Amino acid sequence: MSSTWHADDLLLARYVDGQAGPLDGASLEQHLLRCEHCRSRLATHVAAPPLELVWTRLREQAQAPAPGPVERLLVRLGVSAPDALLIAVAPSLRTSWLFGLAATLAFVVLSVTYGGARGLAFFLLVAPLVPVAGVAFAYGPDVDPTYEVSAAAPYAASRLLLLRTGAVLTTCLPLVLASAALLPALSWTAVAWLLPALSFTAVVLAASTWTRPTVAAVALGVAWSGAVATAAFDRQPAAVLAPALLVLYAAVGLAAALVLRLRLRHLTLLGSLT
Ligand SMILES: [Zn+2]
Repeated sequence: MSSTWHADDLLLARYVDGQAGPLDGASLEQHLLRCEHCRSRLATHVAAPPLELVWTRLREQAQAPAPGPVERLLVRLGVSAPDALLIAVAPSLRTSWLFGLAATLAFVVLSVTYGGARGLAFFLLVAPLVPVAGVAFAYGPDVDPTYEVSAAAPYAASRLLLLRTGAVLTTCLPLVLASAALLPALSWTAVAWLLPALSFTAVVLAASTWTRPTVAAVALGVAWSGAVATAAFDRQPAAVLAPALLVLYAAVGLAAALVLRLRLRHLTLLGSLT
């Protein structure tokens, strides 16, 4: 049994669409590192030219690494080069993603500066959803499972999941914190959004063990937008960060973390079925 497990077509298709999610994404990458058969099947799910390009680029990258900014930073922080490569290939750690995020935050800061209370509502709307989006898009089709890397760093899928989630959070959270520091009316709300942000991230990770992370992220986004819009309508946008609600976010986040911990056993099992 252990030698006959292969990724099914649905999973490969979702992976190519960037919809595989943290849990399945990490498991599949684990498997792709070792399974030539599934790598070639992945090709049938990707439009003709990209895959070959991706593999060529990855092979070149493994032999003559040209690390991106996130990867260089990780290495400087003491992460081994193969680890840094595997972490930094997440779509939401790309330079283009980070530029898009920085542009969005600049827009938010401007709207708060010139838009008063409505601007603050905009910040409260965006800030907790940034890490949620980053984690939801941490796995995509051209994540590079080179066997050179796998030989250097045989991965537990759960370790990859946690490392990459950590990397996504440590790149996007400082950007949001920096933009919060630029807000004209700096108050405790400039950091209090971190609690719903971390809680929602845990919910997306836990939910990704059942459904696509983008589905969970969109559901959370809709609920959060509704809450912020309602509070803003009463001219009290910061009400979404009332102490009682902060306790609720913390409780939900802890519950989600617990669920994820239990469900990670499933991940380890899937990752070892090679
Ligand atoms: Zn396979």
